Amino acid sequence: MRNKHIALIYTGGTVGMIKTEQGYAPMPDFAAALSALLGDRDDRLPRYTLHEYAAPIDSSNATPRDWQQVGRDIAARYHDYDGFVVLHGTDTMAYTAAALSFMLQGLRKPVILTGSQIPLSAARSDAPQNLITALQLAASDAIREVAIYFNQRLLRGNRATKVSIERLQAFDSPNYPWLGEACIEVKLNHAALLPCADRERFELPEYGNCMVLPLRFVPGLPLQAVRAMLDLKPQAVILACYGAGNAPDRDPALLDMLAQAAASGTVLAACSQSPHGRVTIGAYAAGAGMTAAGVIGAGDMTFEAAFAKLHHLLARGLAVDDVKREFLRDLSGELTA
Ligand code: ASP
Repeated sequence: MRNKHIALIYTGGTVGMIKTEQGYAPMPDFAAALSALLGDRDDRLPRYTLHEYAAPIDSSNATPRDWQQVGRDIAARYHDYDGFVVLHGTDTMAYTAAALSFMLQGLRKPVILTGSQIPLSAARSDAPQNLITALQLAASDAIREVAIYFNQRLLRGNRATKVSIERLQAFDSPNYPWLGEACIEVKLNHAALLPCADRERFELPEYGNCMVLPLRFVPGLPLQAVRAMLDLKPQAVILACYGAGNAPDRDPALLDMLAQAAASGTVLAACSQSPHGRVTIGAYAAGAGMTAAGVIGAGDMTFEAAFAKLHHLLARGLAVDDVKREFLRDLSGELTA
């Protein structure tokens, strides 16, 4: 293990916070807390170098430009390290992990995101276990993808979603098997890991210049709200539909609005509000009209993966038809064909 060298990128999150009168906020000297934890560990831990962001954030403040910064920081140091651990807040960790998987395609080293539900500085913190195991996983030769390690589970990053606010088991990947489990021994699920790519195919376009909006259907959603959203002329809208990809179809005005938006170049993609299973638009009559309106289904992608993927494809400057074609293709293990 000691011959492996890992970059430990600290972006923020509960893991490095302390209690203040205003609630949890980033602690002043995270590096010291970290070396107190990892300082004289045995040779079952790889060496690490800490890259601490100057202004660590609560990940609920993250934007696509923050994803881009992490992606570019990893790409810039790619040849200097054997693997990467990204310490990140849990709230939007799944978005960052998904975006990294699209930026760092063909990855041939582990990139492991982790964090904690309880700060490193607090009693009963889950940070030591998450951090130590993430470092060990980042030294593995078998992992060649972006993953989230959290509370004994190793999950594909672009398949993961935050499932609990209170449990230490904060993440799951409802539509994909776990990539591994850390019990007494760390067991990898080799059949589920991405195979070794021939070469890295990193894509690091300029993020943050396009508008991808979420539209969650709720019973009785006022159509003026949909109109107001589409009037903003977003490049893409993710429709969070019911069940298999259903949406209200009693009022034709909704489908008309969607059809007009699609005709004027907005990419419309349908996800499900149900985390498990895949979207099949047209399985029910209430939903069939969406295909005609130009909506494409996100298959079994998570909302987070679909959102990051649209940002990524749009940032690449692809034409609308190419964005749609690439969205429907599995780029980095995020989608079951
Ligand atoms: N709000 C925190 C964050 O996402 C929550 C966490 O880290 O668990 O940065």
